[in-house]
Amino acid sequence: MGIVVGDLGVAVVIEDDDDVRNLLDAVLQQAGFEVHSAATGRDGVDVARHRQANVITLDVGLPDIDGFEVLRRIRQFSDAYVVMLTGRNEELDTISALQGGADDYIVKPFRPRELRARISAMMRRPRQGVVGEVVAEPSEQMAAAVNARRGKVLQHNGLALDTETRTVALRGTPLGLTRSEFDLLQELLKGTGAVRTRADLVRVVRGEYYGEDTYISEADERAVEVHIGNLRRKLHEDPQDPRWLVTVRGVGYRLAPTKAE
Ligand code: CA
Repeated sequence: MGIVVGDLGVAVVIEDDDDVRNLLDAVLQQAGFEVHSAATGRDGVDVARHRQANVITLDVGLPDIDGFEVLRRIRQFSDAYVVMLTGRNEELDTISALQGGADDYIVKPFRPRELRARISAMMRRPRQGVVGEVVAEPSEQMAAAVNARRGKVLQHNGLALDTETRTVALRGTPLGLTRSEFDLLQELLKGTGAVRTRADLVRVVRGEYYGEDTYISEADERAVEVHIGNLRRKLHEDPQDPRWLVTVRGVGYRLAPTKAE
């Protein structure tokens, strides 16, 4: 069966370099997206808004406002998947953009295959809202209750993670987590105290794209540390006495022991 353009929804390319923009446009069209593009940050925000983007590729270095500011503006109205495109010298800044609501980033120059793989890994996973406050709908709460009965909910020290609805609640209050934060928390809860190395967790964040033998950079591991830091903040972890996320120095992380309430 052939691919119908627009099957996967709308992709918006925000990139000032003509060659890179044309390449991204072609790759995303071939993948099955309806593609719109913009060469400046401000135009990009407008196009993302008017075309109701599902996926956005966002260059960090743009002529007017930079990619981080574009991301901040887009996140006020859109929960599109956002992949940041960054130069090698901007990589560390881009990792901090994961805190601002980017889903992933790719260092230029990139292979079209790598971009396609990253985007399809992102889109295979349902997503929680990242716009504003996340509040569970009554139907979600009902689904959560049903799943609890079916053993689809991982619980630990007052935290409940529903693997089916991909929602997390702390003593009944819903937490708004990004996809990566959810996946990492799920992995550690499933491990019931087994140590997960930072490399293991990079593979969790990246989805199936990274196999056992794939090179994992320090920046990849640093990105995992940033996600874990975000999780700790959202969970209000006490660093002296964590209830969920324990650092295993020089190795990775594991789940804290069960505590008496
Ligand atoms: Ca640029």
